[in-house]
Amino acid sequence: MKFNTDVLHAEQLHARLTGSYKPQAMAHVSPIYQTSTYVLEDFDTAVYLNQHVDEGFVYTRFGNPNCDELEKKIAHLEHAQAAISLASGLGAISTAVMSIVKAGDHVVFGDVIYGCSYALFTKVLTNLGITYTRVDTTKPEEVEKAIQPNTSLVYVETPANPTLKISDIAAISQVVHKHSGITMVVDSTFASPYLQNPLDLGADLVVHSATKYLCGHGTVTAGVIAGDKERIDRCRMPYLQCFGAVLDPFAAWQLMQGMKTLGVRMERHCENAMKVARYLEKHPKIDRVYYPGLESHPTHEIAKRQMHNGFGGMMSADIKGGMDAVRIVMNNVKVFSLATSLGNVDSLIQHSPSMSHFDMSPEERYASEIFDGQVRLSIGIEDADDLIADLDQALAKI
Ligand SMILES: *Cc1c(COP(=O)(O)O)cnc(C)c1O
Repeated sequence: MKFNTDVLHAEQLHARLTGSYKPQAMAHVSPIYQTSTYVLEDFDTAVYLNQHVDEGFVYTRFGNPNCDELEKKIAHLEHAQAAISLASGLGAISTAVMSIVKAGDHVVFGDVIYGCSYALFTKVLTNLGITYTRVDTTKPEEVEKAIQPNTSLVYVETPANPTLKISDIAAISQVVHKHSGITMVVDSTFASPYLQNPLDLGADLVVHSATKYLCGHGTVTAGVIAGDKERIDRCRMPYLQCFGAVLDPFAAWQLMQGMKTLGVRMERHCENAMKVARYLEKHPKIDRVYYPGLESHPTHEIAKRQMHNGFGGMMSADIKGGMDAVRIVMNNVKVFSLATSLGNVDSLIQHSPSMSHFDMSPEERYASEIFDGQVRLSIGIEDADDLIADLDQALAKI
């Protein structure tokens, strides 16, 4: 079925059609299994299930029905064999990365990625004897040049936070998979499965901060990883089992509710963002707008090829006058909330250099086009005219 039907019914409908749907009570919405442990039928079942934790429920750190339901939905939407849910996007990223790398390895990652992912590679993995090369992943030939005999991971974020650079997943996958033993991971948070399916384009694992578009309402912190069963099993056992960044059942349940409207929300996010981007592009106090839907965006052509249904709800803009102008705009917006995070139904504005990307040095930030006057906008599903009017009055105060 198509996206908006799948996002509501995938798996449950399948279970009904195949006759495997056997609820204890006919709850229309799944109950919340707010339990840490499960009663096991008898001793032999207990022995068996502890060896085969994916065949039943033993202890919530190994699995929970609400998380399981969410994981099956994510796997379906990402065209994956399997998925795993975790307590945050970074929980997903660190678990996925640690399931791949070992001491002495080398990793390649993009020069524009989420600030805490950058910190994971540059401040945590380096302590474990893992070296790295940062490259412009919009150029597959740069990725190729960076690969060393001990490279085990190529990590790509597209669209990239916060400059919305688009990397060509299929082209990078071709480069990466010429070598054996390298896993390619894509952070697809900004796109959501509605706009992009990295596994179809050759990525080995896709990660999301489900805190963002998948939830959509800013009510939970969560992350997911999707991919082939072998890789996902390895993320679960021993990595998630030992790191313990498991998702709470109530958060999984909330995500299931949020995701029902993912398709209609994304449609509106995309439509509104295009209008706001076109408005900002013409504004005399704006130097540059970073939105992959604009023809002026350097990687617009890749975005057109790689993303379906639109270009997303995220953009950045350089305000003329640097930090002083940013301060005026951020203190005067009324519909936009001054808050980090993104992908909520309501619009947010943040200052990337001092908020999401504070972990980078100024030199690294400038080299990555994260300038002092740059604000990042998460365009919500309000009426676009009201969003434009709000930005208009705030910009007029500069
Ligand atoms: C927010 C974000 C993350 C981190 O997710 P959390 O849920 O905050 O841990 C990772 N990648 C991208 C692109 C993000 O925007």
